[in-house]
Amino acid sequence: MTDTVTNGYDVIIVGAGPAGLCAAMYAGRGMLRALTIERGAPGGELLNTDLIEDYIGFESIKGWELAQKMTEHAKKFGAELATDTVERIRKADDGWFEVATARGRLYRAPAVILTAGGTPVKLGVPGEKEHAGKGVSYCAVCDGAFFKGEVLAVVGGGDAAVEEADYLTRYASKVYIVHRRDRFRASRILQERAFANPKIEVVWNKQVLEIKGTERGTDHLVLEDTVTGERSTLQIGGVFIFIGFKPNTGLVEGHVKHDAGGYLVTDERMMTSMPGLFAAGDVRSQLTRQITTAVGDATTAAIAVEKYLAATREKEKAGVAS
Ligand code: NAP
Repeated sequence: MTDTVTNGYDVIIVGAGPAGLCAAMYAGRGMLRALTIERGAPGGELLNTDLIEDYIGFESIKGWELAQKMTEHAKKFGAELATDTVERIRKADDGWFEVATARGRLYRAPAVILTAGGTPVKLGVPGEKEHAGKGVSYCAVCDGAFFKGEVLAVVGGGDAAVEEADYLTRYASKVYIVHRRDRFRASRILQERAFANPKIEVVWNKQVLEIKGTERGTDHLVLEDTVTGERSTLQIGGVFIFIGFKPNTGLVEGHVKHDAGGYLVTDERMMTSMPGLFAAGDVRSQLTRQITTAVGDATTAAIAVEKYLAATREKEKAGVAS
């Protein structure tokens, strides 16, 4: 398909989760011509989270509601949102970025802010793919209600696993958290909540070898003790897997510095090793990934883009004059 080339933007923001929406708001306030491209509804991971209780100023707010508020706020400052899937980002020989989308558009701009988040890491065990959507899920808010009265397993030991296990007890009769070690890495407050929940039982030191079931859904997990190697089974009506996220950084062509987990390394301006390519939120290498850190990154990135473009234009002018 021949791409329709659009040249009129200062910056293309890829992704409209909290980072993308916040970058769009700041870009608007900075009078930048910005386009934010998102393949789904704006909100990103907020739409996979039931209640948000750690976004300062909002003691408790539904994920979808915060997503809506962020979208409205960004639009109030002129954010332009396009629904499309970004397939490739490359830096052309003239130093401009080309952002190619599934709808055959090619957006060209001197800067890009990548806020594309990540996709859930898969266990990679037999039965996982076969039962995906039929007993295997990666989103408690999306699928929890399908498991009313069932016994569920949650795999993982980070914030997502422990928090979502607690969430799932509103539907399930019991939730096992299956974790491969003897302690969680989740934050203390989430752990305490889970330990206090009578519907949650933790299965320590176990890894999932296989997810078994029938056409209609999952019925048990085959587990292996990570200390003794002993095998066992766990009867369940569904399994939710929360073992981390993989950053969506594969869109960028060419080498960009990243850490061992594939997260993009940035400087204090949120600029990656590719000049003009900025990163914010879950795609960026950092200590923690929260809504607050995502919007912090995005604020810095949008303001840094403004300065980057001004400096680049100054240099070009000086080059022309000399
Ligand atoms: P995470 O913190 O990386 O935790 C992943 C968990 O999965 C770890 O417990 C890990 O075990 C386990 N794991 C990884 N690979 C596994 C495998 N192959 N088999 C079995 N277990 C495996 O990921 P996350 O929980 O998705 O959180 C991602 C980021 O989002 C974190 O920075 C987190 O703080 C943030 N987050 C915050 C909140 C909140 O604050 N409310 C909610 C959700 C997420 P080990 O511990 O043994 O490595």
